[in-house]
Amino acid sequence: MDQASRFAKLFEPVRIGPVTAPNRFYQVPHCTGMGYAMPRTLAAMREVKAEGGWGVVNTEYCSIHSSSDDTPAPYCALWDDGDVRNMAPMVEGVKRHGALAGVELWHGGFRISNLLSREAPLGPESLPVNSDPWQSQRMDASDIRAYRQWHRAAALRAKQAGFDIIYVYAAHTYLLAQFLDAEINRRADSYGGNPENRWRLVRELIEDTREAVGDTCAIAMRVETDDERGGGQDERRAMFASLAPHLDLFNVTISDYSQEMGVSRFVREASLEPFVAEVKRLTGKPVVSVGRFTSPETMLSQVRRGVLDFIGAARPSIADPFLPQKIRDGHLDDIRECIGCNICYAGDSRGVPIRCTQNPTMGEEWRRGWHPERFGKAATPARVLVVGAGPAGLEAAHVLGKRGHQVMLAEANDVAGGRVIREAALPGLSEWKRVADYRLHQIGKLSNVELFRGSPMTADDVIAAGAGHVILATGSRWRADGRGRHHRAPQPGFAAGRVLTPDDVMAGKKPEGPVVIFDDDGYYMGSVLAELLAKQGHAVTYVTPAGIVSDWSGNTAEQSRVQVRLIELGVAIIVSHAVVAADGNEATLNCVYTGRERHVPCASLVSVTSRQPDDALWHELQGRDHGLASLTRIGDCKAPGLIAMAVHDGHLAGRMLGEDAGLFTPKRERVLIAD
Ligand code: ADP
Ligand code: SF4
Repeated sequence: MDQASRFAKLFEPVRIGPVTAPNRFYQVPHCTGMGYAMPRTLAAMREVKAEGGWGVVNTEYCSIHSSSDDTPAPYCALWDDGDVRNMAPMVEGVKRHGALAGVELWHGGFRISNLLSREAPLGPESLPVNSDPWQSQRMDASDIRAYRQWHRAAALRAKQAGFDIIYVYAAHTYLLAQFLDAEINRRADSYGGNPENRWRLVRELIEDTREAVGDTCAIAMRVETDDERGGGQDERRAMFASLAPHLDLFNVTISDYSQEMGVSRFVREASLEPFVAEVKRLTGKPVVSVGRFTSPETMLSQVRRGVLDFIGAARPSIADPFLPQKIRDGHLDDIRECIGCNICYAGDSRGVPIRCTQNPTMGEEWRRGWHPERFGKAATPARVLVVGAGPAGLEAAHVLGKRGHQVMLAEANDVAGGRVIREAALPGLSEWKRVADYRLHQIGKLSNVELFRGSPMTADDVIAAGAGHVILATGSRWRADGRGRHHRAPQPGFAAGRVLTPDDVMAGKKPEGPVVIFDDDGYYMGSVLAELLAKQGHAVTYVTPAGIVSDWSGNTAEQSRVQVRLIELGVAIIVSHAVVAADGNEATLNCVYTGRERHVPCASLVSVTSRQPDDALWHELQGRDHGLASLTRIGDCKAPGLIAMAVHDGHLAGRMLGEDAGLFTPKRERVLIAD
């Protein structure tokens, strides 16, 4: 059986109430950091997914009314006719490729603060909002009536915009989930108390929506199979059975977001199966759920075994918008697999358009006109030397190769992949190797790209290579002198002790005795090394100037799991302190608030502060009469950053070579004042 027919089951049309999805690939609602303010950016991004074969493409959370305002987080909206106009291009774009467009109508309840609208957040009770020192207004009967009308009106606007699937969104601790939850909802009226009363509002909304738009639109519910504390499954079972006759689709998940949106460091593919597998049997309705599915075999197995009708995906559709098409065409080895790093989520966490480590075109479809699979052939193919085969160099060589340039890629090491190869060997990070694997595989298929391993390049070598253009992607090295965010200057006190950098540890250097890890970086490296060394049997003390372990990883929805992991491994955690010196016996720490000194046993200090760009080659070539048409540096050797940034930089360099630089100024969506 060929690949295409082997996976034919995934390409069967599936009926969802009054509409039919062309296949089983379902992009569940997911945030994009674009929201109502960037309709063109959003429409182009969603359309690419439909083009790539996703049979259903949904919006992100789409506010129904000004009392549901998550500012500064970007959210979609259907408040008025202007929003209908702005949402319509997404629908048109998705439908142009034969996919269904879905909208997740949303009210945030008291999970949000209404910072822009300044309306009182609403809720089943008056309780503190998530992130600010104020409370919600307890909804009385008239508020509930008004809410139902807003939802109905938004459903009608959604239909007007052309959406095929309309959600009643009862998950993720937003308003309806607050009503469902027994601990939150202590109302004594007909909307609280017993389970039927708590799910009354959900039922009413489903009925309202069906009555308003159910003739042509499918009604879906996004809901968890447990309550906010991970229990209450029996009640949910009863609710599903009761609501099923009124619904066309169940989009199910669980309350533990760090599992649903789990990073690969902690959560494997298809981890939700035990929690969602019975929903199909209970409801008799089509079911979609997620699981960071990247393996077509896993997808097939889920459908064959009756776990799911639709393969739900946010991240796999972000990393590879063309994943369905690649499966259909039997090009499985071309799938750009999600690595489970959640940098996509971090874009949204920071309130900026989504980005992806694996897919540098994500979020750039409109503003730069980038397509994930098409690169535009070079008008004049050139000879290009890329030095360094880390994420930046690999991506540059890959794009240049696909554009038809003649590429030499020189890598000092015998193994190509740079930092991702080193880091993928750390606990939990093995999937990160996919960044190198995908690119090496693509390059391997291009006869115009030659990879030279074991080839450390000097300035003379670069010039002698005879390339017209040179791109340096030589990376960076961790500093050992304590310099970073907290200590802006090198710390003399670091010199006396046995100081190891992450590079040293990854190269196999062993610390001695009690270890102190000074994490002034705040992302994954400090805590991953703490985990590694604790597992090797060292007594580890983790010290950070921040108030929590790996504080930046709150942006990637993994911070709580990181902290739990270190606690469970017996790592001593000291927050709000900086290491100022280590003498091989003890480390001296300063409280970041009081400056008060304390001492902890420390034979080896692992310093995770900042990196030094590996830019010697760049500087040397600057001083030479090299005669090159262009000399560029990209990735960490320019400015050390995330792997995603290096890949993006490599991609940009690959697209730009030989082109007019002016074409690469990204477009902005902004209001222009008329004359
Ligand atoms: P980035 O994230 O910017 O891609 P990495 O540190 O992951 O950076 O990768 C840089 C790569 O460049 C490493 O694999 C390193 O071995 C290689 N490299 C550094 N200097 C040279 C050089 N002079 N010649 C060839 N390869 C080099
Ligand atoms: Fe996957 Fe990371 Fe891309 Fe998100 S950013 S889709 S987790 S590879």
